Amino acid sequence: MYDYIVIGAGYGGLSSAALLANSGFKVLLLESHVYIGGCASYYKRDNFTFDVGATTLSAVAENRPMGQLFKSLDIKPNLKKMDIGLVVKMDGKELHRFADKDKWIEAAGTFFGNKKEEKIWNKIYKTEEMMWNFVMNNFSIPPTSIKEAISLIKLSNFKYAGLIPAAFNSLESFIPKSAINNKNYYRFLGEQLLITSQNSIEDTPYLTAAMGLAYPSETYYPYGGMKSNADLIYKKFIQLGGEIKFKNRVSKIEIEKEGYKISTAKGEVYHSKGVISNIPIWNLGNMIEGREGDYFRKKAKYFDSAWGAFTINFAIESNLPTPSAYYQVHTKEKIPFSHGNSMFVTFSEPDDFERAPKGWKTVSISFHTYVGDWELNDYEDYDKRKELVTIKLLEEFEYQFPEFSDSRKMYLLSGTPNTFEFYTKRYRGYVGGIPHSLRKSLINMSPNKTMLKNFYLSGDTAFPGQGIPAVVLGALNIHKIVMSKAETF
Ligand SMILES: Cc1cc2nc3c(=O)[nH]c(=O)nc-3n(C[C@H](O)[C@H](O)[C@H](O)COP(=O)(O)OP(=O)(O)OC[C@H]3O[C@@H](n4cnc5c(N)ncnc54)[C@H](O)[C@@H]3O)c2cc1C
Repeated sequence: MYDYIVIGAGYGGLSSAALLANSGFKVLLLESHVYIGGCASYYKRDNFTFDVGATTLSAVAENRPMGQLFKSLDIKPNLKKMDIGLVVKMDGKELHRFADKDKWIEAAGTFFGNKKEEKIWNKIYKTEEMMWNFVMNNFSIPPTSIKEAISLIKLSNFKYAGLIPAAFNSLESFIPKSAINNKNYYRFLGEQLLITSQNSIEDTPYLTAAMGLAYPSETYYPYGGMKSNADLIYKKFIQLGGEIKFKNRVSKIEIEKEGYKISTAKGEVYHSKGVISNIPIWNLGNMIEGREGDYFRKKAKYFDSAWGAFTINFAIESNLPTPSAYYQVHTKEKIPFSHGNSMFVTFSEPDDFERAPKGWKTVSISFHTYVGDWELNDYEDYDKRKELVTIKLLEEFEYQFPEFSDSRKMYLLSGTPNTFEFYTKRYRGYVGGIPHSLRKSLINMSPNKTMLKNFYLSGDTAFPGQGIPAVVLGALNIHKIVMSKAETF
């Protein structure tokens, strides 16, 4: 009998498993794929390593989720802080999102011509800082009982009272009219929010919009790709006595007197006192029968949609440095089947020889797409659609980065929501978590603690969702709840 079985070795599951093993629990991690990492996993082609999805790490400061995880597990990641967290390409010009706040405010002021830039960004950065402090110091969010709700109203939380209006109002209502009426500024904010909050200016709560908009102030490039940190967490977990079983897709969870019975598609059966599910709530609902499963099915039904991603990866032969590894490119033409008008481009750093040999770089491009556009019955139609989008993306890349147009390109591979569904088993290929929305309030998101005893949710469809720092925060919260003995074990 295990203490905990963790389902899914994405960043959320790996972190939960390692933190629990570090506290002496007997943990089994079940993963359906042959690799760890999920949406932040990788594949190799000869001497090249390509990220499949996520490419950017943030929230590494000591008082933020990644920093706290690395500290708790005594992990020393090989990261480079980007002075320019992101380059935004718009209408043939480049806007540098400097990590340094004052430099960024000056750059934005010059680029957009807004007079109130300082006021706007001071408020955004202040809200972001307060929100991080709040979530890092309170782990029962959203509360699952009156007791937990009352515990949030403690004296030390009074300083966060100013955040309340930000949770229930959009970014639009906090930005001066003159700035919102600036067409380019509106475009810029809209595309930034799409990649961070997965939502629009009108519907993203200011609270999480501020966190998303401020992220380029703390952007890190992981040497070796996103896999390198996942590997460090995984190795730590194994070192601490944790067990992992790959190619073991959990198909059923049953509640027993002493805990849980977990069955896998291969027919293997495991027992544990507790469970951490790091798979999306859309997948989880179908694994638990009866009244207990209804809770997850209801949540899945309420948050019934998310984005899909289209990705391409390739290698280019070039020594040319880029000012940042990360670009958000406002496209000249709308890419077919894209939502929004931008693509996210990541270059490997010239001295990252784990990703590409000397004189070469890897390039990863992604954009948001509707999953329904890829759910075609006819394979030929699907292939044609995929080819069309790949060609358009490459044309756009050539146009936006003429400095690489003569460079040799190799190992081109594209992925659609179907690819994500195939490799990560995520329902319909929904990725990136649940969009942060005023209409479906953050309070309704699935808390890490569930109604079932010793049964927790991590991953990007549980609070706070979206992105690696968020799923790691979920794992840290679960660890705190377990250690606080909020439930008897
Ligand atoms: C194109 C793209 C770009 C992104 N860019 C960034 C970025 O730059 N920075 C950032 O922070 N975030 C980014 N994200 C978001 C980020 O990748 C995810 O939010 C995060 O990695 C999700 O982690 P997770 O642990 O919740 O789940 P996942 O990564 O989805 O992991 C779930 C794991 O569970 C396994 N699994 C599924 N079903 C079962 C089952 N039944 N039994 C056992 N195992 C199962 C899967 O194989 C997978 O390994 C991006 C996402 C995409 C798609």
